[in-house]
Amino acid sequence: MLWILIAFFLLLLAGVIILLPFFRPPALAEPDGAVDHKLLSLYIRRDQLYQAIREAKFDLDTGKLSPEDYERQVARLKRQAASVLRAIDKREASLVSPEWDEQIEAQVRTARSGRTARRPAVVTTVSAKAGRARYCPQCGARLEAEDRFCPACGARVA
Ligand SMILES: [Zn+2]
Repeated sequence: MLWILIAFFLLLLAGVIILLPFFRPPALAEPDGAVDHKLLSLYIRRDQLYQAIREAKFDLDTGKLSPEDYERQVARLKRQAASVLRAIDKREASLVSPEWDEQIEAQVRTARSGRTARRPAVVTTVSAKAGRARYCPQCGARLEAEDRFCPACGARVA
């Protein structure tokens, strides 16, 4: 029964190792394509701790460790693993968020430039209407600043 469990574990581990690169988000690589070595060493540390926990269980099952020693050892390993996991979360967030921030900022910039581009356009039209009002010399219809022909009678206007 134990061997089936171990075989299953190894199979699972092999599967994870094979599939991991496909699931790892591209953001974990730095912009220049280099691997983040700090994160990589954290992953390795985490896997080492998981391995140590498995080995402790094995030692318990084979009688090399007393239940008390096993409990103490696993508790210590789990505390270390927890702190490594927290460090991984922090590191991943620091690697992912700058890119996210950049994307969000770019979207905000686009939206903002869209607004500022539209606003002056409205302002110029209004000021042109108010300040330099022109009228058709033929029919007296009001002309827009950009009109070359009267919109009412079609006469050419200067
Ligand atoms: Zn006219």
